[in-house]
Amino acid sequence: MERVFGRPLVTQEQMRTRIRELGKQISADYAGKDLVLVGVLKGAYAFYADLARAIRIPIHIDFIVVSSYGAKTKTSGKVKLVTDLTESIKGKDVLLVEDIVDSGLTVQYLLKTFAKKKPRSLKVCTLLSKPDRRQVTVQVDYEGFKIPNHYVVGYGLDYQQQYRNLPYLAVLDLADEET
Ligand code: 5GP
Ligand code: MG
Ligand code: MG
Repeated sequence: MERVFGRPLVTQEQMRTRIRELGKQISADYAGKDLVLVGVLKGAYAFYADLARAIRIPIHIDFIVVSSYGAKTKTSGKVKLVTDLTESIKGKDVLLVEDIVDSGLTVQYLLKTFAKKKPRSLKVCTLLSKPDRRQVTVQVDYEGFKIPNHYVVGYGLDYQQQYRNLPYLAVLDLADEET
């Protein structure tokens, strides 16, 4: 028996089904376009790998590495671009692939930063969204799952850099940690 960690919120099977649907929709929406799928690391790595393989049109793959200041469970809103893109996105159709939109501050920052690179179009695909936590209104074009206000780990998401490799999404009980 597999040891279950945390309280499972989204199972592997639910992930598979939903990501297949997203891949289909993105393939249809971007048919004939020059799509660059930009993964926002590290959190999006697992989702990215599955989503990219569910997309049935030719794409460019690229990544950025961002970190928000501090290792707490709450974002500071200040995002640091640790590693930038490897290819120009000028005139390309860019889809940012995120793990989760929480306050919305990270996506807001990324959209502002990427707009300056003059892509032809710029959209956002996130695996997860916590609508109740939004501090700013941001455009989210594709969304895997809306989830309640709990701190989640697994499927790419971490708690102090651990648990990213958990194959499902689980709620982490943070007894003495505020989220
Ligand atoms: P935002 O800027 O929208 O508040 O949050 C962006 C980042 O906060 C996410 O990319 C993620 O790194 C982190 N984050 C927000 N909620 C959670 C959560 O429930 N679990 C984990 N592991 N990270 C989260
Ligand atoms: Mg992220
Ligand atoms: Mg994190």
